[in-house]
Amino acid sequence: MTPKPKFLVICGDLLEAFPETEPKLREKQEKDFKNVFSALDIPLLCVCGNHDIGNTPTEDTIATYRSSFGDDYFSFWCGGVYFIVINSQFYENDSKVKQLSAEHETWLEQQLEYVKREQPKHSIVLQHIPWFQNNPDEPKNPWNFEKDIRTVMLKKYYDAGIRHIYCGHYHRNGGGFYKDMELVVTAAVEVNVQNDGTTPSNDHGYRVVKVLDNKLEHSYYELGTAPSSISWN
Ligand SMILES: [Zn+2]
Repeated sequence: MTPKPKFLVICGDLLEAFPETEPKLREKQEKDFKNVFSALDIPLLCVCGNHDIGNTPTEDTIATYRSSFGDDYFSFWCGGVYFIVINSQFYENDSKVKQLSAEHETWLEQQLEYVKREQPKHSIVLQHIPWFQNNPDEPKNPWNFEKDIRTVMLKKYYDAGIRHIYCGHYHRNGGGFYKDMELVVTAAVEVNVQNDGTTPSNDHGYRVVKVLDNKLEHSYYELGTAPSSISWN
């Protein structure tokens, strides 16, 4: 692709095998993953998903993730844009990692304060599980968050100045708005499903995001269909 993207991000579930129940298979998948992506000539950003540390993460699964893929949450500047990468599993189930979850929350509060103070031209959060799929008022389902935590977090993000959230987990495309803050859900490059949630779908692909001064533009491309040259007009 010309110009080359600044980076590639996988919005969680880097591997499919769960660490606690399928550690051997996960080891093999990790080798494959690193083998495939070692050929990449742009940075690869890894977001931590439920398959990566388990639906009920433990100190062990998080430590293993960190030694294999680096930090499970972090932030950085790129081209005048500020990115915050959270570990959304702490909001799903932190029953066995209360201390780590509290550290994450303190860090996130500091990050949001920083965004409020610095007012970057864009502030973008990357996370695995989306707060919602299509509508901030939708009912709870297996793919989003409980309404109480969802509402608290969306307001927190919004008040800090976040206007863009990119997520995965849903195995199909989705997205919607909380006020003028856009949440985008991107389908998987691997297994996808139709809207009924059970029928397989073959639209494996990825999303190309163009960051312009005053807005972000994004399009989903099925594998093999993305343009090889990106124009800025
Ligand atoms: Zn997931």
